[in-house]
Amino acid sequence: MRKKYDYCIYIGRFQPFHLGHLQTVRIALEEASELIIVIGSHRTAPNIKNPWTSSQREQMIRLTLKDEPNLLERIHFAPVRDQLYSDNLWVADIQQKVLAIAGDESAIAIIGHRKDESSYYLDSFPQWSYIETGNYRDIHSTDIRAAYLSRAPEATYYDKLPVGVQVSLSAFQSEARFGELCAEYDFIQHNQKAWSVAPYPPTFVTVDAVVVQSGHVLIVRRKSRYGSGLYALPGGFVDQDETLLEGMLRELKEETGLKVPMPVLRGSIVDSHVFDNPSRSLRGRTITHAYFIQLKAGKLPPVKGGDDADKALWMSLADLYIHEDLFFEDHFAIVLHFVSRV
Ligand code: NAD
Repeated sequence: MRKKYDYCIYIGRFQPFHLGHLQTVRIALEEASELIIVIGSHRTAPNIKNPWTSSQREQMIRLTLKDEPNLLERIHFAPVRDQLYSDNLWVADIQQKVLAIAGDESAIAIIGHRKDESSYYLDSFPQWSYIETGNYRDIHSTDIRAAYLSRAPEATYYDKLPVGVQVSLSAFQSEARFGELCAEYDFIQHNQKAWSVAPYPPTFVTVDAVVVQSGHVLIVRRKSRYGSGLYALPGGFVDQDETLLEGMLRELKEETGLKVPMPVLRGSIVDSHVFDNPSRSLRGRTITHAYFIQLKAGKLPPVKGGDDADKALWMSLADLYIHEDLFFEDHFAIVLHFVSRV
């Protein structure tokens, strides 16, 4: 029988894919001939909010439906990056991916559940009909991740997961990354508990240096428990007795040992910008002030990791794109912000 829509669009993070998501997939395939699952937060570095890559998440969905090939063959997967500082770019990316699969003549609906204010994006596609699914069994990915990463007994959350996802999560426990994410989860819990006695929720202020020379960006590799092993900009928390500029220059010297005289560094600052997306850091509300330092072309000055960085390196802009999924918080977006302007 002909369905009401040619395509249904289902956007989500699916970290992990649970029975509420599965219920929506089933409703979508009742309503439409084909389903496009947009897997969000593509190429985000692994963290406790996004433990699994988009291909691992697609695999979880495929495993869940492996005994229903008639459904699986009607599903398309479209991984989409976050654009933390431009909803327009994010919407444009989804529009293009849907157009490439569905063409411009199809009857299309977007399906989802307005669970809270974070579901605002469902209103960004007025050209498509909207199907509201309602809430299924009050299941939340956040609760499942909390139980999983705090190593709670499987019985406390397995009943919210399709068997295929249970198998995937169980296999992931033997990977080194699982241990790292559990340690990060404990660290963040501990940190939040320590701050819970403050009279107001804290807002942290940090500074970052984006130093560019001859097509290379100065990058560090983090050694702190939070974001350990990820690439980041040199930077950190501002001390009580320094200005933002002084804090940025101090962190830059401490973490990279950059051998460029201070007056040259100060004179090479060509731009600065505040990055304040409320969800940019999992440690708590953190606003960063980033400075763009453009050095004269020539031989790259020597650098050496120090303080919170176990390594400092000049990364070519080509490598920057290759390693996008190894960048801490929004640091990849911060670099792009400056290098696409100057
Ligand atoms: P999610 O996996 O939490 O939820 C996906 C969908 O399933 C949502 O409609 C949600 O309401 C629904 N759902 C969840 N639990 C349910 C249940 N128990 N019963 C019924 N429905 C349920 O994913 P999400 O966080 O909503 O995904 C949005 C994605 O879009 C993310 O990757 C986010 O980063 C991205 N995004 C990006 C931008 C940007 O980059 N500018 C802006 C908005 C959203």
